[in-house]
Amino acid sequence: MTRHQTISLPDGTTIISATCVDCNQAKQFTVPSASYDAWANGAHIQDAMPEVPEGERELLISGICGTCFDALFADDDEDDEQDHGPQTLADVGMCEEDFR
Ligand SMILES: [Zn+2]
Repeated sequence: MTRHQTISLPDGTTIISATCVDCNQAKQFTVPSASYDAWANGAHIQDAMPEVPEGERELLISGICGTCFDALFADDDEDDEQDHGPQTLADVGMCEEDFR
């Protein structure tokens, strides 16, 4: 697990906040606490939190948001998942600024 913070709400959900180590973009999303607990206890994130978009799962796994992850590993990770979203030049360009 990477750097992220959670806030457990009394209604049974958990807010997860994480910041991409690459582009420094902070993301926040809410999942059922049971889903977060399952992941924290060792379940695969795609099984524990199927409702979380892939890019945000990536942010939790690797600390890199989906946009940066795609830009970095576009060649490696082609047929893993179908939902990679648009990979525009603007997206890649935004991340590249942080590399320099
Ligand atoms: Zn990023």
